[in-house]
Amino acid sequence: MDELSAKELRDRIAAGQASSVEATEAVFERIQKLEPTIGAYISTCRDRALEAAADVDRRIAAGEPVGQLAGVPVAIKDNMCTTFGATTCGSKILENFRAPYNATVVEKLLAADAVIVGKANMDEFAMGSSTENSGLKKTVNPWDTTRVPGGSSGGATAAVAGRLCFAALGSDTGGSIRQPASFCGVVGLKPTYGRVSRFGLVAYGSSLDQIGPITRTVADTALMMNVIAGHDPADSTSIDKAIAPACDYLEKLDESVENLRIAIVPQFTAGADEQVQKALSEAIEVYKELGAEIVEVDMPHLDYAIAAYYVIATAEASSNLARYDGVHYGHRTETPKDYVEVYSKSRAEAFGQEVKRRIMLGTYALSSGYYDAYYLKALKVRNLIRGDFTGAFEKSDCIMMPVAPTTAFKIGEKVNDPLQMYLSDIYTIAANLAGIPGISIPCGFDQENLPIGLQILAPTFGEEKLLRIARMYEKETDWYKREPSIDV
Ligand code: GLN
Repeated sequence: MDELSAKELRDRIAAGQASSVEATEAVFERIQKLEPTIGAYISTCRDRALEAAADVDRRIAAGEPVGQLAGVPVAIKDNMCTTFGATTCGSKILENFRAPYNATVVEKLLAADAVIVGKANMDEFAMGSSTENSGLKKTVNPWDTTRVPGGSSGGATAAVAGRLCFAALGSDTGGSIRQPASFCGVVGLKPTYGRVSRFGLVAYGSSLDQIGPITRTVADTALMMNVIAGHDPADSTSIDKAIAPACDYLEKLDESVENLRIAIVPQFTAGADEQVQKALSEAIEVYKELGAEIVEVDMPHLDYAIAAYYVIATAEASSNLARYDGVHYGHRTETPKDYVEVYSKSRAEAFGQEVKRRIMLGTYALSSGYYDAYYLKALKVRNLIRGDFTGAFEKSDCIMMPVAPTTAFKIGEKVNDPLQMYLSDIYTIAANLAGIPGISIPCGFDQENLPIGLQILAPTFGEEKLLRIARMYEKETDWYKREPSIDV
């Protein structure tokens, strides 16, 4: 059953041709077999999942209506609050934290009758590009267990690629859905900022964070978006229905986009590995054969995206993470001498190195006397980057570029060199700064049989068309059908 996509499984369950209990049991059998190697989950909830699955099967047998994801086993990155199990954010500081409420996306999954399998590993507080910054466990890439799955949604993505669930939710602040999707050969969408509610998502960089689907196919991503997109009064940054109503992303998914114009940014993408560039060119050839017109654009400010991002994201993080103080919730030091030590020791003991680095960088960038020089300047660069996108989208429907400069790197290769790690985000970060949607879809393999992703970026609120563009390519190719041979 695990060869089915989420949508195929959903359709079969709804038609009474498959049982959710069987699908869920099959997932847990694979988890039992492969999880010791892959390490995708921080926690799983087998009993709860099987109960939910049995309920779906029963309701279908009784002819009762069920939701859009009825019976489909899904994983959730562990920075989304759930009232069941812990919500750790991959951090020792939240290791035993029990959320008092469900994130809106979790409520929506439950309302759609999805079966939640577990909470997936991640870089601590979503800071990282390899999942090696998790304070709790190690996740490997199902395609090559000596390599990272990407990050920070590495657990969720490895779970989808390793068939330890049928679909997952990740979060993307600077590439954390798209980059692991590319490294693990699956589909990952970062929606427009505000398209999906962030209520109950543990905040990292609040002006950049966005939740999105990680799936095996473009149709599955459309299906997940149908469930999670939309206005939420609990998130003041979620987009008002009147401005951009969420639509049925599956309805016209198979309709090609006529007169498609694709922008490419040759200067910017020239730095990617040769094999990544080759896969990109070949993907563009496929679109050309489908009648697309290619336009070269110049986006001069993209070169500054990493620098601006690492000021803005760390500044926001330093503020967001102030709440972990050993007083309100989370880890508290055992033997404080005084109240100052409650703060300093609790934080020093439980935050990992990368989180501490970022808090310090962000605090520095926001401090008086430096605010204008760093934070304000970064905001100005952010505006220029937005302008670059506006200009490019005047001439095109979408922009195509690599997701990452390389395929999945070796575990340990970059973890001690933060700058190298930051540079692996070069192609994904700008979309977050501009707030626009971006997707990674499988577009080939390198000589070592590691997946390569194609990144497609679209204007704000352009998810519907973006998914159709992605689907056009998926129909012509079968990269997405390949599976890692980890269990053979
Ligand atoms: N790798 C980037 C970072 O470390 C992006 C992470 C993310 O998108 N959450 O900040």
